[in-house]
Amino acid sequence: MTRKVCVVVTARPSYSRIRTALAAIRDHKDLELQLVVAASALLDRYGNAVNVIEEEGFSIDRQVYMILEGENLVTSAKSTGLGLAELATVFDNLKPDAVVTIADRFETMATAVAAAYMNIPLVHIQGGEITGSIDEKVRHAITKLADLHLVSSERAAERVVRMGEEQDRVHVTGCPSIDLAREAIEAEPRSIGKLLDNYGGVGSDVDISNGYIVVLQHPVTTEYQAARDHITETLVAVREGQYPTLWLWPNVDAGSDGTSKGIRTFREAHALKHVHFYKNLKPLDFLSVLINSRGIVGNSSVAIRECSYLGVPAVNIGSRQQGRDRGRNVIDVGYDRAEIGAAIKQNWEKSERVSDPIYGNGNAGHAIADAIARAELKIEKRLTY
Ligand code: UDP
Repeated sequence: MTRKVCVVVTARPSYSRIRTALAAIRDHKDLELQLVVAASALLDRYGNAVNVIEEEGFSIDRQVYMILEGENLVTSAKSTGLGLAELATVFDNLKPDAVVTIADRFETMATAVAAAYMNIPLVHIQGGEITGSIDEKVRHAITKLADLHLVSSERAAERVVRMGEEQDRVHVTGCPSIDLAREAIEAEPRSIGKLLDNYGGVGSDVDISNGYIVVLQHPVTTEYQAARDHITETLVAVREGQYPTLWLWPNVDAGSDGTSKGIRTFREAHALKHVHFYKNLKPLDFLSVLINSRGIVGNSSVAIRECSYLGVPAVNIGSRQQGRDRGRNVIDVGYDRAEIGAAIKQNWEKSERVSDPIYGNGNAGHAIADAIARAELKIEKRLTY
């Protein structure tokens, strides 16, 4: 019998972390894909990931608006509550045989709780990793609610088992974002200038012909009041370095208001002639932009995951990615303009790239679909120790 698999995508990062698995589930003879797009993935301010999802050929079964205005700790909790109520109705209507939730964003708790309380087997992608921010608690809490764990690495699998999960419910599939990274490397070389023309964005016209850097920095929810100070350190370092820069706006998290305000105010006070801002690039386009850059700066997980595979140099700022297994491409620095500036320079001058395939080899999408098709889906579990 065909299994109905309901995947809930709540944000841009979740989409690039599941895209190849979505295609593999849709095309699998024993599976039927039910796609729910929710939260910031539906919002223009966060780049309308929903449009990209549709353009890339997926049909969407349900849309769930659930983000309250404010981007602070209160709205994170309330938005999750709204999502829980809405997703319960969605699951009741779609009657999936399994629900898939991705990684560790705050609102994914809503998907996990709704499925678990409704006796629907929950599949969790990307458990067992370590980071900073609220993500760390959310990720491990979802592991305890989940019935099948499809993780990115052996080390992640070990951690999930040590959390008391049964060994045979844990499968190392790799991360689908690495499938895309592999696709991006294998693709024909493209003109980045032409590619970026499709996106518009705001800011100065930047000459990227002699190299450029990419900046993507989010607030850290556990330090959210400092978001504006944190981003200012990065802005000063980037202004002083004068490198041509492509800057991506942050995700919706407690503090992103502070991050965005910091960027806007700085932009008004200083002419940033070498910086152009974008809301959201399509996953493969974004990876091509990274591959052709002199490095990424900020605290996005892309710098640690995809860029370790791609060998793209990264300056990782602060605590957001603390503890995440990383490759040799990363320089860790504090929220400090001088440290950030020195690390950007060091990466800019690098002539060699080293690839460390920590998060998979590029076959995760099929591995995930196969694991979901084959696994015994049960909702009972006990601590193993
Ligand atoms: N990403 C993308 N387009 C963009 C920016 C990011 O496709 O314009 C993808 C990126 O490749 C990565 C994911 O989104 O797979 C993670 O990005 P982000 O920094 O938004 O989130 P994090 O995982 O750090 O919370």
